[in-house]
Amino acid sequence: MDQIVSLCKRRGFLFQSSEIYGGIQGFWDYGPLGVELKRNLKEAWWHDMISGHNELVAPANAPGPFEMVGLDCTIIMHPQVWKCSGHYDLFHDHMVDCRESKKRYRFDQVRGRWVEYADRSQKIFVSTLADIETELDEVRRRAMKFFRLRNKDADKISISNESLTIDRLDSTKEVLAPDAKNLDTLTEPREFNLMFKTTLGALGGENDATFLRPETAQGIFVNFKNVLDSSRVKLPFGIGQVGKSFRNEITPRNFTFRSREFEQMEIEFFCHPDQSQVWYKYWRDRRMAWYTKLGLSSESLIMREHHQEELAHYSVGTADIEYAFPFLPEGEYGELEGIAHRGDFDLRSHMEGKLNPATRPMEVELGENGKAKYRGSGRDLTYRDEVTNEKFVPHVVEPSAGADRGVLAFLCEAYSEDKAPDEKGKMQTRTVMKLHPRLAPIKAAVFPLVKKDGMPEIAREIYGELKKHMNVFYDEKGAVGRRYRRQDEAGTPYCVTVDTESLNDKTVTIRDRDTLEQWRVKIDDVVTDLTSRIQ
Ligand code: ATP
Repeated sequence: MDQIVSLCKRRGFLFQSSEIYGGIQGFWDYGPLGVELKRNLKEAWWHDMISGHNELVAPANAPGPFEMVGLDCTIIMHPQVWKCSGHYDLFHDHMVDCRESKKRYRFDQVRGRWVEYADRSQKIFVSTLADIETELDEVRRRAMKFFRLRNKDADKISISNESLTIDRLDSTKEVLAPDAKNLDTLTEPREFNLMFKTTLGALGGENDATFLRPETAQGIFVNFKNVLDSSRVKLPFGIGQVGKSFRNEITPRNFTFRSREFEQMEIEFFCHPDQSQVWYKYWRDRRMAWYTKLGLSSESLIMREHHQEELAHYSVGTADIEYAFPFLPEGEYGELEGIAHRGDFDLRSHMEGKLNPATRPMEVELGENGKAKYRGSGRDLTYRDEVTNEKFVPHVVEPSAGADRGVLAFLCEAYSEDKAPDEKGKMQTRTVMKLHPRLAPIKAAVFPLVKKDGMPEIAREIYGELKKHMNVFYDEKGAVGRRYRRQDEAGTPYCVTVDTESLNDKTVTIRDRDTLEQWRVKIDDVVTDLTSRIQ
């Protein structure tokens, strides 16, 4: 993981936000290569899910044909949206405070191991925020310090093999908190709302308080009727949206995996209640296939169905697509996307008032005065089937993906090291980002072999032509072998080289990043050749 993080910074994929001021935790900037990669991922999603969807035929394995449209909603919405959606009351994590260090941690994210010191018959739980690769060393270091042991006495303590998060312990009494010197300094876990609060207007009292959206989904629900009335879509249909979301995560960590500002790519798919289970299964499988098609290996991806007790309050079924990120312990996976069957919770809550998730069938949650705790919009969000004349509230299946976690997974998957010959034919280790051509920030690089004999002129002309069709890079500086290496690290799938032969027969060499295979193509055919390869 350290190598990936360092390559990301060195080559301009990702920078820490506000780095010159020491950075700000949980915020990341995309550099010149990163911005292209992320745009390509979002565009691939938008094309494959929305704009490229053919509503006239049922896609493979779909229960039938369906329509897809897009939306782009605001980040700040009416505060009532978050009351009716459940985020105002329920969108929280558990946190613990350390009485000694005054630091705050997310209860389910502090990890550690049991350490036993037999001479003193004492067993303590040593926690740390260290990465998984350095966790064991860090636990040992902290335990030795706690028991005041010297290095030569290292074998006097035994450390359990299992790494646990502190929410799995019966109590925190024996816990050495990540930044504490004494045991038992953590408070009981408390709830902490993850929404960023902000105030509208200059006078701004409590009534003007609103929130930065923690998900893009609600913008889709509140526009359900607008879309229905303006675009004449018929059930089943989906509405997609890509945009920023904000969560005040207590312990942002693991590079961009848990950020406080991130982008989501969400679909709300509306269907008849009787059909919702088949559509749920369809979307689950379709979304999984999307990741493998773009290059995530199926060994590193899993589909995890949630257990009953894990399901969100509204959900009839949820599955997560998870990836074996290298910063996680062996056998653990991190969520890339959640596919949730949300039933009619959202549309009914925005229509009638926030529903009480504990009731079956769900009823509007009542406040102390016996009226709806959070009033709905009162708008009719039902759907009338033109053929059967049936009127009902559609059920919703929601595939909700994170663009930043997607980028991170593709970066981790792409990173590889192999051996390739340098200019003198000597084998050298090379770092190569094996990104799918659709995702690669730069599709091709154009080089004149040397900076003379008319080669740069030809190369510049090819570059100009290619630029009209794709993102290309021109480089005439330094040894050609070094130029290839730089492009391998950037994930550029093809390099086009103008050499002595080009002057005679008007052909160039194209080199494949992964196989290192080279072939000659007529200059006039370079655009067509590369266009067909980067699809
Ligand atoms: P987690 O359990 O990891 O906090 P979640 O289940 O709360 O995630 P959802 O609410 O289902 O996540 O959000 C949908 C997607 O948005 C996630 O699958 C993930 O890709 C992305 N996402 C959620 N929170 C973050 C975050 N803090 N940073 C980056 N991406 C995020």
